[in-house]
Amino acid sequence: MFLKHMMPDLFKTIAFRLTLWYAGIFSVSSCVAFALFYFLATQTLQEQIDRDLLEKARYFSTVIQRNGIMGASKLAIIEAQAAGEKKIFFRLLYPSGEVFASSHMSYWKDISVDHGALNTLSQTKGHVFKTWLIKPNDQKVRVLYSFVAVNVILQTGVAMDFQSQFMSAFKTVFMVAMGFIIIFSAASGLFLSKKALSGVKAITGTANSISGTNLEKRVPETGNQDELDLLAVTFNRMLDRIEELVKSIREMSDNIAHDLKSPITRIRGFAEIALVNMDDIDNYRGMAANTIEESDRLLDMINTMLVISKAEAGEGEFLYKPMNLSAMVQEACELFVPVAEDKCIDFTYEVADHVQINADSKMLQRAFSNLLDNALKYTNDKGRVHVDLRKDLDGFIDIRVADTGPGIDSVYFEKIFERFYRAESSRTSPGTGLGLSFARTIAREHKGNLVVASQLGKGTVFSMRLPYRNTQII
Ligand code: ADP
Repeated sequence: MFLKHMMPDLFKTIAFRLTLWYAGIFSVSSCVAFALFYFLATQTLQEQIDRDLLEKARYFSTVIQRNGIMGASKLAIIEAQAAGEKKIFFRLLYPSGEVFASSHMSYWKDISVDHGALNTLSQTKGHVFKTWLIKPNDQKVRVLYSFVAVNVILQTGVAMDFQSQFMSAFKTVFMVAMGFIIIFSAASGLFLSKKALSGVKAITGTANSISGTNLEKRVPETGNQDELDLLAVTFNRMLDRIEELVKSIREMSDNIAHDLKSPITRIRGFAEIALVNMDDIDNYRGMAANTIEESDRLLDMINTMLVISKAEAGEGEFLYKPMNLSAMVQEACELFVPVAEDKCIDFTYEVADHVQINADSKMLQRAFSNLLDNALKYTNDKGRVHVDLRKDLDGFIDIRVADTGPGIDSVYFEKIFERFYRAESSRTSPGTGLGLSFARTIAREHKGNLVVASQLGKGTVFSMRLPYRNTQII
């Protein structure tokens, strides 16, 4: 059943259809070639017969000049007997059509004098050819009317036996040759199409052998740059992308599972402690408070994930309104001052006044807070963090958050913006790995971007650039 499903119906295969086409085209062109050959051959033979008949007429004309009508009458009988009375005949007539001498005519009795031909002959004074068909054998006869003396017309006809003989010989040759041509063209069509389609077979084979766990197989590339090679290259590229996607989905689900495990384990721990100390009402209160806190963290994480996914799918629900960006940045910085003070970080900010923008203020505030939170989180005690907001000359607003933290290796410059990515060294600090991914999504949603510049051991600068006019949104 499976095999039947996998093997395409023979009649539907391209190889079969190509074979049919090859055989069809070969046969039709051979038929045309044969027909052309037949036509030319019969034409040439007929021309030869016409020449022979004209020669005879000339001969009769010479004989009449030398020996008169009687000589010509005798000649008619002798010539017909010599060639065979079923092969040729001669009639001598007056222009009126009256026959005055002829060869032995019992075989040719069906062939009469064609008065139409005589009329044409009288007008042209040259010669007229006609082709007759004698029943019942449908034998063709070529007939010539020609003046051989003043007022004497020769009607002579010759059986065109050659044509039927040629036709039957030709039929045999044609049948045998066509048989060979059909077999040869089908075989070569099958061979060529199989050869041409072997690349497609390789691709189908690879596609069949690929499963969810086995994505590393690739189709051999010939490097010929032909259509099949390009198909193989495209197919391999597609596999590369799918492999990457599956890998990142796997990584992401591992990360989600890992990040959900810790808070749920903690919630379970609180419940266990409360169960052990059942009499202590304060314990219950503590457990409830901790559970709410952990649940909020979980909900926050899930909501952030949803915002990112929806925005990436173009289904983000954003509320754009004119807002004072300067005030928002200023207030957020003020909120983080105590955190900086706790770590004795030299925290400074420089914000250009009255920068207005059309944006979703809540989302933008969360995105900016993530950057500030990271800078203060990853910078060691007594380090420096500086924020500035300014309008660039190219029509963009630039919000820069610079720190003197550990810095980021340039190989991770793109990775850090992936969902759930956290550097090994950062795993000891709290976080979900969603902050930068969220911030970049929000910046891009506002037709801007978030980029990083960093030097290991020296520090990092995150720059959120937003179009000042923001025309797409307004
Ligand atoms: P989280 O901070 O929750 O781990 P983020 O998405 O905000 O997640 O950041 C991703 C990773 O980028 C962090 O784990 C950290 O390794 C790195 N990172 C972010 N900000 C900084 C920074 N200011 N300095 C050094 N590394 C940073």
